[in-house]
Amino acid sequence: MKHYDITIIGAGPAGSTLARTLGEKYRVLLVDKRPLDKEPSKLIKNCGGLIAPDAQKALATFGLSIPKDVLVSPQMFSVESIDFDNDMVRTYQRHYINVNRECYDRWLYSLCEKSCEQLFSTRYRNVNKVDGKYQLTLLKNGEHIEVSTDIIVGADGANSKIKKELIGKEEHEPKRYISIQEWFPNRTNVNQFVAIFDKEISDFYSWIIPEDDGIIFGSAVEEGKSAQKYHDLQKEKLKEYGYDLTNPTKKEGCHLLRPLSSKDICFGEGSVALIGEASGLVSPTSAEGISYAMLSGDALGRAILEDKENFLELYERNAKYLKKNIDSKMRKYPIMYNQTIRKMVFKLGLGAIEVNGK
Ligand SMILES: Cc1cc2nc3c(=O)[nH]c(=O)nc-3n(C[C@H](O)[C@H](O)[C@H](O)COP(=O)(O)OP(=O)(O)OC[C@H]3O[C@@H](n4cnc5c(N)ncnc54)[C@H](O)[C@@H]3O)c2cc1C
Repeated sequence: MKHYDITIIGAGPAGSTLARTLGEKYRVLLVDKRPLDKEPSKLIKNCGGLIAPDAQKALATFGLSIPKDVLVSPQMFSVESIDFDNDMVRTYQRHYINVNRECYDRWLYSLCEKSCEQLFSTRYRNVNKVDGKYQLTLLKNGEHIEVSTDIIVGADGANSKIKKELIGKEEHEPKRYISIQEWFPNRTNVNQFVAIFDKEISDFYSWIIPEDDGIIFGSAVEEGKSAQKYHDLQKEKLKEYGYDLTNPTKKEGCHLLRPLSSKDICFGEGSVALIGEASGLVSPTSAEGISYAMLSGDALGRAILEDKENFLELYERNAKYLKKNIDSKMRKYPIMYNQTIRKMVFKLGLGAIEVNGK
């Protein structure tokens, strides 16, 4: 049985960043069910593909710049906020880098390709602890592969099997949403990010993102409600604002987490670490998660490089600021999600810009 110092389950922004930070000092295995070494299949990450200012800053601190074949059109400088609850619209200046998410993940993976071993199109199945080491069972093309490892990292996203099996139910868990995204032809020339607040649909928000010749419409509905029903209702209501969301060309759905306090974040236990969305790190106000994924992957990598035996304590220290960041976002929460406060902010035009004199 092959042995690794560190096995990372999930090669999204969190897992690939960890592998890149670790470099060549240890024997590292990176596992993903996606075929990241071949042509993209249907197994792609459901995401809006917006690289928000926090993620741009993270890339800058890593000394990385996004290559042009990862970008999609248009690059956006504003977000239009539609408030159905107060029947108001405002535009704010924001700079997002618009990327093809599958290409972005493949680019991040290319940066660690040479320093670790990879098993793609491979699912993590289960784990046993034998003589202080973890023995993992992986499944590739119907065949079982057994490996052993000192450290296991769950970088396996919102439905982390590593968290479920090795950490168990925590006292505090992020709130869960079902997110549906659909792709449409861009018939009305949408050229900015649109955020939609409507408490009839969800206590979070919905969005429209232009991507090359099309637009993505996405919603996040509380788990337990009929996500499809409310997603469709929001599309119907958006007609009134001139959006044509008919005849989708593609549809995807997945879970989305929303921590409502830093207590909802779990970095791991013993020799098991969690990074990215598996740890619960996602913005509670915007669902932006790429920055948290990359920054937590890097924080864990630096901790393991400093002291592999006591890495968890060091990781928690390195990543404490990310927990604080969740709490500071929660302090801004009422401005975006309290109907009365939002009405006041919109009415006063705080931070808003005029578009074409309106
Ligand atoms: C609809 C939607 C839109 C979003 N839009 C944005 C956005 O525009 N900008 C932004 O910053 N954030 C966005 N987010 C959040 C962002 O996508 C996540 O926070 C981010 O992808 C987390 O990165 P990660 O590496 O932790 O996990 P993921 O990107 O989810 O990666 C997890 C990886 O683990 C693999 N995996 C899972 N289970 C297994 C298994 N059993 N065996 C092997 N491999 C496994 C998966 O294939 C995947 O590659 C969005 C989220 C959703 C749901």
